[in-house]
Amino acid sequence: MKSRKPIVIANWKLNGGFDLLCSSVASFVKKSFLAEVYICPPYLYIRDLLHFLQYSVVNIGSQNVSKYQSGAYTGETSAQMLAEAGCKLCLIGHSERRSMFRENNASCQIKLKRAFENNLMPVLCIGENLEEKNAGITKDILSRQINESFEALDIADNSFCIAYEPVWAIGTGQAATPETAQEVHAYIREQLVSLFGQDKAQQIRILYGGSVTKLNTTELLTQPDIDGLLVGGASLDAEHFMSICQQV
Ligand code: PEP
Repeated sequence: MKSRKPIVIANWKLNGGFDLLCSSVASFVKKSFLAEVYICPPYLYIRDLLHFLQYSVVNIGSQNVSKYQSGAYTGETSAQMLAEAGCKLCLIGHSERRSMFRENNASCQIKLKRAFENNLMPVLCIGENLEEKNAGITKDILSRQINESFEALDIADNSFCIAYEPVWAIGTGQAATPETAQEVHAYIREQLVSLFGQDKAQQIRILYGGSVTKLNTTELLTQPDIDGLLVGGASLDAEHFMSICQQV
C-alpha cells in the first residue's frame, strides 16, 4: 500500500465547451473517489466549472501560469489571479508549452516560484521526445529538467508533483508500458532524493501522462512509483475520465 495519496488530473487543453462542462457535472457531482481529482479546463471555464462542481470533490487546476505577477503582459494570467479564482493546482512546463511557446527549464523555475508564493500546487511536467529516447538520453534529459527547474528554489514545506510525460506518448495512443514508466519514475525519485533528501522525496507524487485510458489505468497505478495520472484526450469524455478515477 502506497503512503502517497493518488492523484488524477484531467488536462482539457484547448478543448471543451459547455457540453463538456455539463457532462462533467452530471458525472462528478456527489461522487467520491479514493484519489484526489482535478480538472484543468481552459482559463475561461475555471469559474464556471468551480461553480458547477461545488457539490463535488473535484478540484480545479490551471494548465499554465504566468511567470509575471502583474503589469503590461497582454494575455497572461498570474498565479495570484488563479488562486483567487479558486484553482488549487497548476500545470507547469507541459511539453506543448515547451515545444510551441518556447518554455524551458528556466521559465519553469520562475513559474514554480510564483505557484509556491500563491499556494497553488505546481505539477512540473517533464519528459523526453522520440529523438532523445532513441538516442538513449532519456535520463539525462529528465535529470536536467528536474535540476534546472528546482535549482535555487527553496521548497521548504511546499508541496508539488512531477508528471512524467514522454512526448512520444502524448496523444499518440502509444503509452509507455507500465514497466518502462516504473523504471523512469524510480529514476525520477532518485533525482528527488539527491535534491531534497529521502523523506521529502518519498512524499512527492510522480504522475504518469501519455495516452492514458481506462484500459491501462490499473496496470500503471499498481507500479510502486506511479502515484497518479495526467490524462489528456481520454478526459474529454466525462464518463471515460470518471471510469479512470474510479479505478484508483
Ligand atoms: C497530456 O497532454 O498531458 C496528455 C497526457 O495527453 P494524452 O492523454 O492525450 O496523451
